[in-house]
Amino acid sequence: MKYIVIKFGGSNLKCKEDFYRIIKVLKIYDRPVIVVVSALYGITDRLNDALMRIQKSRKEIKGIIEFLKETHLSIINQYIDKTGEQKELCKRIEARVEELEKKFMGIYYFGDVPDFVHDWVLSFGERLSSLLLCSLLNVFGIDAAEALPEDIGLITDGIFKNASIDFEASIHSVQKTLSENKTYIIPGFYGISKEGKITLLGRGGSDYSAAAIARCVQAESLDIWKDVPGFSSVDPKILPNAISIKKLTYSEAAELSYFGAKILHPQTVEPLLHYSIPLRIFNIKTFSGELQPVTYIADTKVITPSIIKSVTYSDDFSILGLNGPGVGIKPGIMAQVTTILNQNNINIKSIITTQTRIKLLLSRFDIDKGYQLAKSLHLATLDEIKTEDDISLIAVVGEGILNQPGIAARTFQAVFTQGINVRLISAGASDVAIYFIVSKNDKIQAVKAIHEEFFSKS
Ligand code: ASP
Ligand code: MG
Repeated sequence: MKYIVIKFGGSNLKCKEDFYRIIKVLKIYDRPVIVVVSALYGITDRLNDALMRIQKSRKEIKGIIEFLKETHLSIINQYIDKTGEQKELCKRIEARVEELEKKFMGIYYFGDVPDFVHDWVLSFGERLSSLLLCSLLNVFGIDAAEALPEDIGLITDGIFKNASIDFEASIHSVQKTLSENKTYIIPGFYGISKEGKITLLGRGGSDYSAAAIARCVQAESLDIWKDVPGFSSVDPKILPNAISIKKLTYSEAAELSYFGAKILHPQTVEPLLHYSIPLRIFNIKTFSGELQPVTYIADTKVITPSIIKSVTYSDDFSILGLNGPGVGIKPGIMAQVTTILNQNNINIKSIITTQTRIKLLLSRFDIDKGYQLAKSLHLATLDEIKTEDDISLIAVVGEGILNQPGIAARTFQAVFTQGINVRLISAGASDVAIYFIVSKNDKIQAVKAIHEEFFSKS
């Protein structure tokens, strides 16, 4: 029988009741499954913050160690009153936390956090939650074993902080080690480089871990449990009348995640395509004993009358502009700039060019470094290198968007009617998305206007 891979994120791992819910859910599956977990809510941020503080002050070590013990042990203590079992479990959690303490001392003495130490430390949030969940499941009569990425051979490309899975190197060993037909609990968020170092898969990366494992074992489905009603036509925080989306294709889900919908890590869909593994999103808040997904993501295209399924936005984009009379015709400028960015692990999110301008869209976290790198090339053909970071990207996404006349016109008409200036447009590069840039201040109004156009009128 094929496995189902199930993922629970940090927002479902806050308190005692959350663990009750998870145990209830796993009992409904009633078969061996692979469970991938995030850290308990807020723990990764706390670890990150501690890394900064410990470099300057030794006193901080005690604080974070106590906090980690307290947070995890209090869940055990609230659950179990059989003293023997409780003591045993607490000891195991404490032992794992104490592994961290020694490294923290090293960080304090060196006054620095090399990347490999950073990734090692941040992976502990997940390593603690997987141990905790696995132990609780055992206490509640679910036979489960913890399987760490280093033990199953989940191999990455070795890039610290933002690694990708190397499937060729991983598939065989992951399949082999997860073959006993029992329930496994795996910490998400990291894999191992070929040299054996822990490498993180980027913030929010447990979704991607789960998808990667699903691909390695050719899972029947990847089930991601959330505490929100799946994908929706717009961020419900902007418009409470957002409509929940029942079905999406892989491309639609990928574009929406990439362009800001915070439901999934943007790389989650990619590993699933290979074997067309369906991705089912569930809302644990409305779980009533049935495995009924709120959003189902697969190959099957559903073209709705309004074509657009969702309008989304992201503030994590900045523009690196390269201006000069010949940039569009002189060969090599783009190659040099993209090479130096690549060598420095800066991801280019998109590129738009004209004869006199090249605009590279980078994460706003990379823009200053990207600017310095481009400058360092001293390219004579460039009159000016400049950055724009007071911007937001808005995307409208839906299958059929490029084949249906008038969608772009309606989108931009809705924005122009509000008197909002569009600073840059891209259409055609993706089959299912049109995106454009506006000033950050105009973002909410533009998103609302587009949603109104497609979801209130048709
Ligand atoms: N705990 C990690 C984070 O907060 C990974 C995840 O939650 O997916 O980014
Ligand atoms: Mg997450």
